[in-house]
Amino acid sequence: MRVKIHRGAEEIGGNCIELQADGKSILLDLGAPLMGDLHGEKALPSIPGLTDGSNVDLLGIIISHPHADHYGLAEYAHPAIPIYIGRGADKLLRAAMAFGPFGAAFPNVCFYHARKVFRIGPFSITPYLADHSAFDAYSFLIEANGERLFYSGDIRGHGWKKWAFEALLNDPPVSVDAMLLEGTTLGRNISEPELREADLVEVLSEQMQKTQGIVLAAFSGQNIDRFISFYKATLKSGRTFVVDLYVAHMLCAIGRKTLPDPTTSALRVYLPHRAKLKIVRDGTFDLVEPFKNRRIYPSELKRRSGNLVMSFRQSMAEDLCRANCLIGAKVIYSMWPGYLERGKVDLRNWCSENEVAFDIVHTSGHASAVDLKRLVSAIKPKALIPIHTLEPKQFTEFGAQLKIVPNGKWVEVSD
Ligand SMILES: [Zn+2]
Repeated sequence: MRVKIHRGAEEIGGNCIELQADGKSILLDLGAPLMGDLHGEKALPSIPGLTDGSNVDLLGIIISHPHADHYGLAEYAHPAIPIYIGRGADKLLRAAMAFGPFGAAFPNVCFYHARKVFRIGPFSITPYLADHSAFDAYSFLIEANGERLFYSGDIRGHGWKKWAFEALLNDPPVSVDAMLLEGTTLGRNISEPELREADLVEVLSEQMQKTQGIVLAAFSGQNIDRFISFYKATLKSGRTFVVDLYVAHMLCAIGRKTLPDPTTSALRVYLPHRAKLKIVRDGTFDLVEPFKNRRIYPSELKRRSGNLVMSFRQSMAEDLCRANCLIGAKVIYSMWPGYLERGKVDLRNWCSENEVAFDIVHTSGHASAVDLKRLVSAIKPKALIPIHTLEPKQFTEFGAQLKIVPNGKWVEVSD
């Protein structure tokens, strides 16, 4: 078996790896780049038959999780090429389609399941549930011709699925020839260990209790782990959690019994003005229908502002000004702080203009160096190949033979 990193060897995002055995190929992820100037179809790696379906030896694309830098270019692949994805991840991406660009509805999907081996041609693949900020994320063991490669995908050990990370450490795949390991956090100079999602609950609930007005929770609507942290903190602080329609729709679509059901539970649902306009334009009134008894309107936002925590995105800023519910309010920003500088409007400016307090409470979706090392020590690969990192050389200290493979170069898995 041989491996080629098409993209991701020395950058964060745009993961695409090709594995080849007996003349047959599979791709691990086909992500959109986060860096550089290439976007959309122009960013596609050059892989024979990927877009025209002419390569019968390209057997499938395995998507590790529903983050655009791992699935974002798969929509350009020819529909004859099957997409392998977790069932939950597929539900989430389909549900997001109604709201904007962060969704996908692949025409030809096959579902894989944690620890259930499946075959694609000469490849035998075992998915391992991964703790990550994306919902339904996986790492994979891929075997072919007696050789074994482990691909971490994106992974961490401090989220709500920490148990899955520990389960992997306690029962790791053995005799792994090569391990493709993500290193997103390497080089970030983090002196302290990452806060656990469970620790965030404490910090968030404390902030909620200290805030007089409404608490605006700025997190990604697809980050279900972070939703859980905010939800638990809200309950702890004695407030009511208001989700915007996007989050409510995501929760319903993935339909996990362990998550609150926004059609019946203590959650309330707010329909932002922009979403309302889009629904009228698209005629998608069925999106709101399930929540009609749970809706909250601007007058109540104002009246009960000191009792509420609300999921918030910049596009809702106007609504809240109009509702006149911002006295004593606070924004808790809970995403990678680098996004603040990338937005069209800096959220911090909006806060100071409207006398809204601002704070960042966040923990990474990716493992710290300490946890990455623990993973390498457990799996003991013969070779360690960095991916999804700006600092591949920092893997030198990880106690496995480091093999830095540049983009576009074939290497044998067991060399
Ligand atoms: Zn990710």
